[in-house]
Amino acid sequence: MKISVDVDGVLFDIMILYCKIFNKRYKTDYNKKHVIQWDFFIDWNIEREDAFAIFREIYETPAHVPLTDQNAPQILEKLNKDNKIDIVSARTKKFRPQLEKELSVHGIEKGRHYDKLILVDDTPKDIKLQLKYDIYIDDNPFLADAIKNVKNSTLLLYEQPWNRMVKTCFNIKKVSNWKEIFEYFTQLKDD
Ligand SMILES: [Mg+2]
Repeated sequence: MKISVDVDGVLFDIMILYCKIFNKRYKTDYNKKHVIQWDFFIDWNIEREDAFAIFREIYETPAHVPLTDQNAPQILEKLNKDNKIDIVSARTKKFRPQLEKELSVHGIEKGRHYDKLILVDDTPKDIKLQLKYDIYIDDNPFLADAIKNVKNSTLLLYEQPWNRMVKTCFNIKKVSNWKEIFEYFTQLKDD
């Protein structure tokens, strides 16, 4: 099976680091739980450009963004044995070397844990669907909205405060950690 694994919000808990930088800069006291929509910067009274500047700073310096789940690398490796896993991200293309390095710092290596690292634009927000993977592991609520019309693809929505409004359906299943992702694939094999 062809599987697309997202980076931010699925492998890396980027919003933890993002909030730290934001709070320091704007003297606020936000944490990940306060990020209750994709365009959270609207609630936080900040311009889109200023909000994205912080993302770019994080992409640029392979600062140590924490993993969402310590089990992620080990489970990726197992899944990549029976499937073709690509890491697919909308991080800025010019920061590819930094992303490769950061994945490798977390023990996620090309060949062993994944096949290709693919960087896409961040618009349209459902752009990843054009790549036609069987399964998407992602936290993007817009991808969830669009995948309902794609019969042959399934989304494992990685639960985050900004995608709580998404409802499960025939091709959207919610997962809250990497063990649940592994169990999903084990069950697929048994069926
Ligand atoms: Mg993401």
